[in-house]
Amino acid sequence: MDIQPETPWDGTPDISARIVTAIARIGTVLRAGMWEVSTAEGLNPAQAEILQLLQHRTRGVRLTWLARQLSISAASTSDSVAALVSKGLVRKARADDDGRATALHLTPAGEGVAARLGHALSFADTAAGALPQAQQVQLLTGLFKLIAQLQKTERFPELRACLSCRHFEPNKYPGQPVPHHCGLVDAPLPISFLRIDCAEHEPTDPASQRRNWESFA
Ligand code: SF4
Repeated sequence: MDIQPETPWDGTPDISARIVTAIARIGTVLRAGMWEVSTAEGLNPAQAEILQLLQHRTRGVRLTWLARQLSISAASTSDSVAALVSKGLVRKARADDDGRATALHLTPAGEGVAARLGHALSFADTAAGALPQAQQVQLLTGLFKLIAQLQKTERFPELRACLSCRHFEPNKYPGQPVPHHCGLVDAPLPISFLRIDCAEHEPTDPASQRRNWESFA
């Protein structure tokens, strides 16, 4: 029988498994940090997340979009939104692009709570900021690539990221250190400036989105 010699590292999980574990652990720590502040504000985690998703979205968002971002049902999202409306933190208005549809907006009080929630994760921001700049760019690039892979599983909610934006012009300057371009501000767009959640984002067509994410993956 062909017996393989054992090494001290035989039981080590694959790198991919350890990446997932590390991300999950970071997610747990971030959730706990957010939980502390949202509890002090009298909010449950879903309500806190909704306030953050509505922040800087001056045109408002639809309930179905919120449900997709939260990966929960439209009915549960609707309950959370109703609670936020009754607390005076969210208001409903007619959607700009469809008079029959409803868009959700933060009230001024909701803006204040969302800003305070934003500070809940400043400890993590400080930790990421302590890494050398080149490592931060490397990490951001790796996370974009992982998101690109996850997009293929259709389990990842759509993002207001450069790679799905109609203003994003990939590889406009091939072979250059900064190959991409943002048509909105009409300037080259370095990887270190790629947005994950841009207030000016306008979705491009699904084929271009797929092409952009795939070229990045
Ligand atoms: S910076 Fe904003 S507007 Fe420009 S490409 Fe990225 S998402 Fe679009």
